[in-house]
Amino acid sequence: MIQSLLRNNIAALSPYSTARDEYQGELGIYLDANENPYNNGYNRYPDPYQRELKQKIALKKGINPENLFLGNGSDEAIDLLYRIFCEPTIDNVVAICPTYGMYRVAAAINNVEYREVMLEEADFSLDTTKLLAQTDAHTKLLFICSPNNPTANALPASQIRQIITQFSGIVVLDEAYIDFSSEESFAQKSYPNLVILQTLSKAWAMAGLRLGLAIAPQWVIRVMTNVKYPYNINVVTQKIVLEQLDHDITPQIQQIITERSRIIKALSECPVVRKIYPSDANFVLIRVDEPRAIYDTLIQNGIIVRDRSRIALCGGCLRITIGTPSENDQLIQTIKQL
Ligand SMILES: *Cc1c(COP(=O)(O)O)cnc(C)c1O
Repeated sequence: MIQSLLRNNIAALSPYSTARDEYQGELGIYLDANENPYNNGYNRYPDPYQRELKQKIALKKGINPENLFLGNGSDEAIDLLYRIFCEPTIDNVVAICPTYGMYRVAAAINNVEYREVMLEEADFSLDTTKLLAQTDAHTKLLFICSPNNPTANALPASQIRQIITQFSGIVVLDEAYIDFSSEESFAQKSYPNLVILQTLSKAWAMAGLRLGLAIAPQWVIRVMTNVKYPYNINVVTQKIVLEQLDHDITPQIQQIITERSRIIKALSECPVVRKIYPSDANFVLIRVDEPRAIYDTLIQNGIIVRDRSRIALCGGCLRITIGTPSENDQLIQTIKQL
């Protein structure tokens, strides 16, 4: 039974019950939660289950609200997955490398062994056999990030499908950049052992509001909900995200993808740029001979990029987020002059 992947203490947990669990009506005189009764828009606790917000996001994503968890950024979902599945010092997780740094930090915080499988140096592709060979009976989570940060490439869907079906633990597929990708999301596919992470921080332009999504089988969502802090998404975030979801972000995404092509073309003509990796994300990874010198020159010109040159397989690499057309013009001009 797949539920046996859970830690025993989590499987046995009886969760905290909030005042709003006991009574769920709308109108009434609320004397149950020790709130201040004077309305300023914030005096009441938020809905701990974010029902309205989940309904709206689920509709947009073409999924069922029962398959959706909302967290304080994706990082909350990552940490919760460790806490519900991984017994400290006993279980382990496997992840691709290089990738998003939070998987490793969350492993360290939770005292869980973190095993890395290097992507192929030439093109950051993944050898599935090598990945699965690192798993054992104590491997609870397998992290893949596609499109991957910082390498910018997406893994082929056929390969992801193969990993999900061949691994008997939980596959965590981070789709933070999926809206910029030519590959399709797995959000509407249902696998008993697949947890998808998405975020409103990138394409949806709400990094400041902190809202991360996990899309997973109902039993996983139920356990994550039981373990999270009861009021993890505050009233302001719930309200503003509901409003912002009405905006059509397609034109912005299209513009960012167009600008990505323009940057790749322009930078490939710059003498200092040795290599530009293909990108399915809203950033490009470039390889140069002197990353620090170029980083510093960009800073002197008021342009801040991410130095990734000390990351495994990324020697000499800078990660550059796609900005507005005029920001990108300045970036290209500055790098051209080097
Ligand atoms: C930016 C990013 C996230 C988003 O994290 P939030 O906490 O939701 O802002 C998640 N995963 C990857 C790989 C990222 O690059």
